[in-house]
Amino acid sequence: MQKQIAVLPGDGIGEEVMLQALRVLTEVGYKFGHEFSTTKALIGGAAYDSYGVHFPNKTKEICAKNDAILFGSVGGPNSERHLEKWKSCEVNALLGIRKAFSFAANFRPAKIYPALLNSSPLKNSIIEKGVDVLIVRELLGDLYFGDKWQKGEKPNRQAFDACLYSEAQIATVTHAAFAAARKRRHKLTLVDKANILHTSKLWREVVQELAKEYSDVELDCLFVDNCAMQLVLNPSQFDVIVTGNMFGDIISDLAAVLPGSLGLLCSSSINADGFALYEPPGGSAPDIAGKNLANPIGQILCVAMMLRHSFSLLNEANAIEAAVESTLNAGFRTGDIFTEGMRRVGTAEMGDEILSRI
Ligand code: NAD
Repeated sequence: MQKQIAVLPGDGIGEEVMLQALRVLTEVGYKFGHEFSTTKALIGGAAYDSYGVHFPNKTKEICAKNDAILFGSVGGPNSERHLEKWKSCEVNALLGIRKAFSFAANFRPAKIYPALLNSSPLKNSIIEKGVDVLIVRELLGDLYFGDKWQKGEKPNRQAFDACLYSEAQIATVTHAAFAAARKRRHKLTLVDKANILHTSKLWREVVQELAKEYSDVELDCLFVDNCAMQLVLNPSQFDVIVTGNMFGDIISDLAAVLPGSLGLLCSSSINADGFALYEPPGGSAPDIAGKNLANPIGQILCVAMMLRHSFSLLNEANAIEAAVESTLNAGFRTGDIFTEGMRRVGTAEMGDEILSRI
């Protein structure tokens, strides 16, 4: 198979974790007989230095010509947020690319590896049954994209954010979530606030109607406040969760802390044509950038996710995931997941260990 991939490392740790991910991609291509060609493009602060914008047209053109996008992360240190280079960097780059390619659904898996039970902030007694949840978040609607304003003077200031959802928007992401549940443990949970919000009532109607097309998937519905509690009290009960943009933003970050480090996570954003972007959901981690300390596992798992979902290369994706798991089982740990008795390694050495197990 021949595939072309746009590679956007971005800022901070982006370059160093992407380097390890690309080594893994090359190795998989070599071992399984595929030709993956990559084209690098700038985004975030790195793009600002050359183009004066965070998401240049040149980068958009390169992405549009490729079969998938591998994305690192963007943004600068908090102490430099006042500089033009970093002002609104994350918003301009991330919302810019999401809008440019109409990425409508975001997939955020959160899995606790058996070897890393002690890295999770939850007690072993809560997670011993295993945690492997996939959150599917709608990405183009909700309070983020509705009308908004602020008016008035102190002490009578008012602000307004409109939340609008169309049946079509809900249906797109719901079909994607049911399809994902079919490839996993056949359970889907709709998370909403249907006791209060009209948009949530519409979500329930549409999801329950579409459920008839997926009778092999068990559907349940949960209010978002209860879901937040359940993710901490009994995360093993969840398989796939589908929800709107705002609730998805919050609960996917809640779920992201369960595995023990942001450096372990991958995610994807996909549009109606199946074109997708793959990125670790964490930021550019300026505190550890350039020091060979970042955990490259999340970025490497983005490669596996891309091979499985964009190119249907299931054996190749499984090989990467198995290599990651066996590296963890062998006791190799970057600083973010290190515990006493384990073997501490840097970004590059973690890449070497995973590579050697593919
Ligand atoms: P962050 O996610 O960059 O870092 C939070 C903590 O997690 C830090 O201690 C960091 O060292 C650690 N961490 C993150 N990824 C890691 C990895 N792979 N290995 C080991 N440790 C890791 O969040 P922040 O510090 O709040 O934000 C830093 C910058 O990133 C800001 O400019 C912010 O705007 C941006 N940001 C970008 C994205 C994105 O590109 N998708 C997402 C969130 C934040």
